[in-house]
Amino acid sequence: MSVSKNPVCASPFPLEAPDTTEINGHTKGVVLDATKWRINEQITIRFLEGDPELQTRVRKVAEEWTAIAALNFRFVDDGPADIRISFVQDNRSWSYMGTDCRRIQEPAATMNFGWLRPESTDDVLRPVVLHEFGHALGMLHEHQNPKGGIKWNMDAVKHDLSGPPNNWDPATIESNMFKTYPLDQVTGTEVDSRSIMMYPIPASWTNDGTSAGFNKELSDTDKQFIATVYPK
Ligand SMILES: [Zn+2]
Repeated sequence: MSVSKNPVCASPFPLEAPDTTEINGHTKGVVLDATKWRINEQITIRFLEGDPELQTRVRKVAEEWTAIAALNFRFVDDGPADIRISFVQDNRSWSYMGTDCRRIQEPAATMNFGWLRPESTDDVLRPVVLHEFGHALGMLHEHQNPKGGIKWNMDAVKHDLSGPPNNWDPATIESNMFKTYPLDQVTGTEVDSRSIMMYPIPASWTNDGTSAGFNKELSDTDKQFIATVYPK
């Protein structure tokens, strides 16, 4: 597999987390415990901008998560909101993790879709919306799962991601690729290479032959995992 022509998510690393020690080793996927919402919590969401039809499409895909997880999304037109969505067209799509969103001051965005436009096809829209809302539920990148142990070919990763379409600086590459999450602060153990939270990884990026395709839907383990984190 060659390097993806699509840019990949460039989410900020989770905010400095308070101490937490909860560990649950029986599920796949990975979630940062400190950013978990309460079960059945109502999460308000506001679009800061964007074409109304595009907003509706984003909302419908986002609600695929709450069909499984015991959380309530309430989209509001004005007033304060936990999640605030922008469409700044800078090829950067990202989201803060879970309840980290509440630590970002209004009216700054907590999520951006840097390559979604009204003419974007569902094939482009669905993966990134599912992925960024995964972060908003507290899910982390699979390839940064501390149990992942991917043997990166760091020079190849840096070379490819510093060029188009991502054009990442070294700090962005470090925090989105190589930095792993503290093992004692996450739930989940094994890596799910089909997860919507996994990046496409060409074999040239690893020294041990690990690779992953461009996942476009929630994997079965994504669904099982989020239902475990937020049981209905
Ligand atoms: Zn991401």
